[in-house]
Amino acid sequence: TEWEKNQACGERILVSVRLRPLNDKEIATNDVLDWECINDRTIIFRNSLMDRSNYPTCYSFDKVFQSHTTTKQVYEEAAKGVALSAVSGINSSIFAYGQTSSGKTYTMTGITEHTVADIFDYIQRHEERAFVLKFSAMEIYNEALRELLSGDGTPLRILDDPERGTIIEKLTEETLNDWSHLQKLLSVCEAQRQIGETLLNETSSRSHQILRLTIESSAREFLGKDNSSTLVASVNFVDLAGSERASQALSAGTRLKEGCHINRSLLTLGTVIRKLSKGRHGHVPYRDSKLTRILQPSLGGNARTAIICTMSPARTHVEQSRNTLLFASCAK
Ligand code: ADP
Ligand code: MG
Repeated sequence: TEWEKNQACGERILVSVRLRPLNDKEIATNDVLDWECINDRTIIFRNSLMDRSNYPTCYSFDKVFQSHTTTKQVYEEAAKGVALSAVSGINSSIFAYGQTSSGKTYTMTGITEHTVADIFDYIQRHEERAFVLKFSAMEIYNEALRELLSGDGTPLRILDDPERGTIIEKLTEETLNDWSHLQKLLSVCEAQRQIGETLLNETSSRSHQILRLTIESSAREFLGKDNSSTLVASVNFVDLAGSERASQALSAGTRLKEGCHINRSLLTLGTVIRKLSKGRHGHVPYRDSKLTRILQPSLGGNARTAIICTMSPARTHVEQSRNTLLFASCAK
């Protein structure tokens, strides 16, 4: 199958770019399309007349998706193989990276739903194994980790357990029964997220959201006898803070320190991904941020990773779009 084929391509990070359509505001202000996907791997900057910079005008990735592509198609070609590796015991992470309003949440929500639907389908077709699906959700804001399924917003602690590795203390895990249960949990997360925003007087553009699906399975014939056939793995769906936060932090001069603190997770993720994509030589600074600590078991090593970079096609966003493409280029 397609995802088994994908699985064969090993630990390399799968990097794709998705252009969204112009939105109503961009259309109303006569904004112009600056970017074009000339095939399914290459995106070009169309307006070279306006371009007096030294930026490249042509970028290639594993996949590029033009603005009318459906999320289903993005899922099939850029995420499915990585996401479903968790049913065979391989941890994975799917990231949405891009500036605020470029389509991260739109893309990630769809990908999460398609993955869960495919996992339920897989479970039905593999009656020889017994499966348990667990769902948990958290948010990182300003290097504080918060539960999204329940609770009062108290920061969660990350601990190092000698046997189990990195664990998150008191994180709620819900056993997922069916499709409507997922829908319910997703709306709980959304509500919790909005409460947090109101409390902090902030928008979601500064926080990272991690939805985690843990899949446990064992062969029915060995059930209760031994656990040698048990497989456990997680797939993490990561809706990152707006990438404009990272570039602001890097260019803010005197306010650098504050900016870096706000965006430590995003900046560290960039460093970790660049190191991994160069072949894992030397020190990988997983421990430098909450996000990379939490995701360490699902990033690098045997784990599979996909990054979907979302971007606006509009001229007004050209600077941020270039930053996004440069990030994506470093990751592949
Ligand atoms: P982000 O999470 O990056 O801030 P959103 O996912 O919230 O951005 O998208 C911003 C708006 O654009 C939303 O109203 C969303 O529905 C719309 N949108 C994003 N991507 C697409 C797309 N590919 N096709 C149609 N509408 C989109
Ligand atoms: Mg969003």
